[in-house]
Amino acid sequence: MGTIVKSVAEKLALRLSSDPLRNLENAVKILSESAEADCFIAVHENDRFNVVASISEDETPRFMPIFAEALSESSVVLIDKELPEKLGAVACVPIIVENTQHIEEDGFVKRRSTTHKTVTGFVYFQRIRDKNMFVSEFLPTLKDSLNLLGNCLEFYRQFMLSNTDKLTGAYTRRYIDAVIQSCMELSKQGATKFSVIIADVDFFKQVNDQYGHLAGDDALHTIARVIQKSLSKQDTLGRYGGEEFVVVLDNMGAEEALKLADRLRKEVEGAKILGEKRELTISLGVSTYPDHADSIKNLLDRADKALYISKQTGRNKVTVWHDDYQNYAMNRQPKQEFFSGNNERDSMKMRSLYKIMDISKQNLGLQQKVDLIYNEIADISGATDLKYFVTGAGGAKALYQSGKSAIPHNKKIIQDVINTQESVSLIDWENNNIEATDGFWDWQSIVAVPSIKLGEVVGILYVSVSAKVKEFSPGERSYIQNAATIMSSIC
Ligand code: GH3
Ligand code: MG
Ligand code: MG
Repeated sequence: MGTIVKSVAEKLALRLSSDPLRNLENAVKILSESAEADCFIAVHENDRFNVVASISEDETPRFMPIFAEALSESSVVLIDKELPEKLGAVACVPIIVENTQHIEEDGFVKRRSTTHKTVTGFVYFQRIRDKNMFVSEFLPTLKDSLNLLGNCLEFYRQFMLSNTDKLTGAYTRRYIDAVIQSCMELSKQGATKFSVIIADVDFFKQVNDQYGHLAGDDALHTIARVIQKSLSKQDTLGRYGGEEFVVVLDNMGAEEALKLADRLRKEVEGAKILGEKRELTISLGVSTYPDHADSIKNLLDRADKALYISKQTGRNKVTVWHDDYQNYAMNRQPKQEFFSGNNERDSMKMRSLYKIMDISKQNLGLQQKVDLIYNEIADISGATDLKYFVTGAGGAKALYQSGKSAIPHNKKIIQDVINTQESVSLIDWENNNIEATDGFWDWQSIVAVPSIKLGEVVGILYVSVSAKVKEFSPGERSYIQNAATIMSSIC
């Protein structure tokens, strides 16, 4: 039996699916193989020619003027000497959709119909070496597939209209949710990973205030374009909220996602979207399935919290989720005591906690970590003495001490903290060991907090300052409690 040679239209029909973009990608593949040439499918929208699918090493067609000619509804073919560079032949075939409108006259008896032809898109071919095959052999065989291509393109257009955001061209949140769902299923089947990035524009309110809302819109549009240009076909860009974007990276682990996120950050910064006068940057958070979360909600939530950490630690930054952030992230829920309402002071405390988190993770000895953490805590709270007790079964085991005054500690307080797993904040009236130069006891204001890991006290942070100098405020106490929570990871 001889092989049955299928026409382009037949091949296309056989591959049709419910995914409009895949239909076009299949189409350029089939067309490119049949024509033995690079192939692009483009649409004509808002006076622009946009490539929506292509098989070529080139990003865009090498000879675009031909598109404008093909708008007049007839195919255009150029060969050899008519073309610049090394192009041997190009062809542009318009995809025409006919709309017939039935018009009723005199009530309902007479009918008149008018037909509008519209060029909705183009199939474009280019070949480097000269072979005049487009005209003689291939183009006529394309004719019966143009109708099908027209429908594929219309299907794609409708799909994009309902699933992309008009301002930025990025996918809608609803569509992104579906993409993440499908990534998760593929990931489960193939035991692979995938990652999400959430990006938020830095100080965008100021951009609106300074340049107006329309300029803000333009900037958002450009940011989306810059990000999209840095992504590959497997990556999906969505608009997550107002000036927040989400990128879904199929089949990509955390390390690679971090590199990509940092590239996006640099691209946006380097694009100088608002010119030389004012920089425009983004902060990003990354999380990976299944390393960081077991559900879509958690995955997005963690990328979002990682992004929040990028914001708090200076902006124009990328942070990958780390489980250590969990404790902190919980504590970031509004807490009356921690947040004083003084923004500058509150963000100082926040930044300090992030630093403590960083220090805790560094590859240093415990004493070194305690020394560095003391510097932070002393700065924020005014403490002059810090002790960190690493505990085990039966009580405190090892003591790390840092600070200026090295005062003796109250063992009873330590034991209370271990027994009750509660923090203590008081002026230690009972501790009369320290005699001040003026003859009075140098009573200490103390905050002692347990570091709890898996329900057990693994350490106690004991911070003090002379009560003559100050008494720790509720806000400082809350800050020290957060520090102790973070420090559980150093034990
Ligand atoms: P931060 O660095 O903390 O993110 O500061 P920010 O000013 O960017 O703060 P936030 O992200 O909370 O502010 C978002 C602002 O973005 C609020 C809103 O005015 C603006 N915005 C949201 N969507 C749009 C939009 O579609 N167009 C314009 N022009 N502005 C938008
Ligand atoms: Mg925002
Ligand atoms: Mg913002």
